[in-house]
Amino acid sequence: MPQAEDEAWMRKAIEIARSKGSDPSTSPLGCVIVLDGKIIAGERNQTEELPDATAHAEMMAIRRGCEGTGEMELRGATLYSTLQPCGMCTMALIWSKVGRVVYGAGRDDVHAMYFEAKHVDTLAFIADAYRDDIMIEGGCLREKCAALYYPPDADLPLEEQANL
Ligand SMILES: [Zn+2]
Repeated sequence: MPQAEDEAWMRKAIEIARSKGSDPSTSPLGCVIVLDGKIIAGERNQTEELPDATAHAEMMAIRRGCEGTGEMELRGATLYSTLQPCGMCTMALIWSKVGRVVYGAGRDDVHAMYFEAKHVDTLAFIADAYRDDIMIEGGCLREKCAALYYPPDADLPLEEQANL
């Protein structure tokens, strides 16, 4: 897919990430799933408001995408996420049969609070997955995506650190 097209979809994901404000303490993650040139799902992280510990943007988008298409599998779809998917979402993406994952900021571009302390290396995880027809690429609009979150060197009080 041309880079300009990826960036256009990522801009949508950033818009969704910011849809309820851009306070980095609320983990503003945005995600869109694109199939045949159309957005079939666009979701923000909703863990606090639901509340649901599994309501990451990618999980919610997979749910909406499957509901919308009436299909359990999202073959041929591309998922765009403003931040590198966590281990849970990566496994869900593998199960969903999505064809391609494009993320903006990577683990090293943001504060460690956004990830599990012992992070599943998303790229290695996908490389070792039982599927060999899923692609993953990072760094799409990296700076714009990273700007949504606390920087790696932010000095945060412990109670702000969601992964503890
Ligand atoms: Zn996740």
